[in-house]
Amino acid sequence: MCAISAGQRGRSVLVLDHANKVGKKILMSGGGRCNFTNLDIQHENYISHNPHFFKSALSRYSQWDFIEMVEKHNIDYHEKKLGQLFCDNKAKDILNMLLDECAQVKAQVRSLCSVTQIEKVESGFKLKTSQGNWQCQSLVIATGGLSIPKMGATGFGYDVAKQFDIKVLATQAGLVPFTLIEKMKSDFAELSGTSVDCIVSCNGQSFRENILFTHRGLSGPAILQISSYWIQGNSIQINLLPEIDLLIIIEENLNKTLTQILQDYFSKKLTQVLSELWFKDLHSKPFAEISKNNRNNIAKKLHQWQFMPNGSEGYRTAEVTLGGIDTDEVSSKTFESQKVKNLYFIGEVLDVTAHLGGYNFQWAWSSGHAAGQYV
Ligand SMILES: Cc1cc2nc3c(=O)[nH]c(=O)nc-3n(C[C@H](O)[C@H](O)[C@H](O)COP(=O)(O)OP(=O)(O)OC[C@H]3O[C@@H](n4cnc5c(N)ncnc54)[C@H](O)[C@@H]3O)c2cc1C
Repeated sequence: MCAISAGQRGRSVLVLDHANKVGKKILMSGGGRCNFTNLDIQHENYISHNPHFFKSALSRYSQWDFIEMVEKHNIDYHEKKLGQLFCDNKAKDILNMLLDECAQVKAQVRSLCSVTQIEKVESGFKLKTSQGNWQCQSLVIATGGLSIPKMGATGFGYDVAKQFDIKVLATQAGLVPFTLIEKMKSDFAELSGTSVDCIVSCNGQSFRENILFTHRGLSGPAILQISSYWIQGNSIQINLLPEIDLLIIIEENLNKTLTQILQDYFSKKLTQVLSELWFKDLHSKPFAEISKNNRNNIAKKLHQWQFMPNGSEGYRTAEVTLGGIDTDEVSSKTFESQKVKNLYFIGEVLDVTAHLGGYNFQWAWSSGHAAGQYV
């Protein structure tokens, strides 16, 4: 995106990527259909130590600008849910669109090119790479975060920052599934593949979406979202029955059993596993025979299930990397380093990440476009 907008200004642009092809995360995103932006971009969807840094770039190149480009290229798309826009066909449509736009402004793209040395010189930078040496006036670091090393992710951007004494904030895997302790894993083993609508909360944040039991732990959109607010040692709270107040339903159905009631909201398997696991002696008794105290405990467990994740699956499967280049080090207008003239940082390498739902790509587009106006 930065190459495109700089190229449109007549700048001579070369994009270097060490992977065997560019845009791999685009290709693997959104289940192969790329959730390329969101109709409803709010500042609350973004996470950064500086909650103002991202506002300007997002407003200067918004979701509507990106949608305009998508439409110009006749790429069919649809809203899946919650404003999330996906390609009808394949994520490759988005990558091809960006490569087409690069070609139109004669921006060159080279893959399988590793940068081995960066040297600051009077007129810009000298680069040594596996494909030869270059000199440039402006150098833009757009190497993303640490998520999915298999796809070519590296800490290169952080190393460049360190080389120039630019502060990097601690990083952590975000939008990532939780792992569970062995006991919980075996308790829920049968539920692998089961998903259920919940409200998941941690550290003052809540998300209402599905959670998914997996053979490693817990995943699903609500878990991925909350993982970006979770710190090792925090517990997670899950309301498994967000639509109802179970105590009221119990009062209205004193002749029914818990298993009978849960079947109205959960799959048969989920009802069976949770009933046996949490309410062994109670689930088959009519509520009229269950004490008020026990009824309260049942409702509390299902509305406020608390547990401590063992950990997260880490960068191996995380969709984003929290933290990164401190935004205080970078201009929110130009994305140029405050310390090093003509050195720019854009995208996920910065301490800006977002919720699941197309917001992360929008940050890549918006920050890239903003920097492209100045490089
Ligand atoms: C599985 C998955 C699914 C996702 N789905 C979505 C989605 O649907 N919607 C959404 O908004 N976001 C999604 N994301 C997040 C989104 O992909 C990223 O936030 C976004 O790609 C960040 O863009 P970027 O340009 O900053 O970095 P990246 O897209 O990570 O690009 C960085 C580039 O730098 C290259 N590079 C790295 N190190 C070096 C080096 N040393 N030398 C040269 N090149 C290097 C890499 O090869 C890569 O091509 C997903 C992420 C993952 C992992």
